[in-house]
Amino acid sequence: MIVNEWCMYCGECAGVCPRCLIEVRETSLIFNEEGCKDCRICVQVCPVNALAKEE
Ligand code: SF4
Ligand code: SF4
Repeated sequence: MIVNEWCMYCGECAGVCPRCLIEVRETSLIFNEEGCKDCRICVQVCPVNALAKEE
């Protein structure tokens, strides 16, 4: 996942990931990419379009 500068660390994405792969810290997001099933729910739920999938 790529996180851009619009991220405000609200935690929305972490809350919806069905596999709980996203950890929100104060000023960073940690992704456990290994378990990611590419559902992109996290991308869709972000209110500021801060997430994009690496292609
Ligand atoms: S939902 Fe968007 S703004 Fe909120 S923590 Fe996730 S990437 Fe950042
Ligand atoms: S694409 Fe789906 S499985 Fe991967 S981090 Fe986002 S919500 Fe989680």
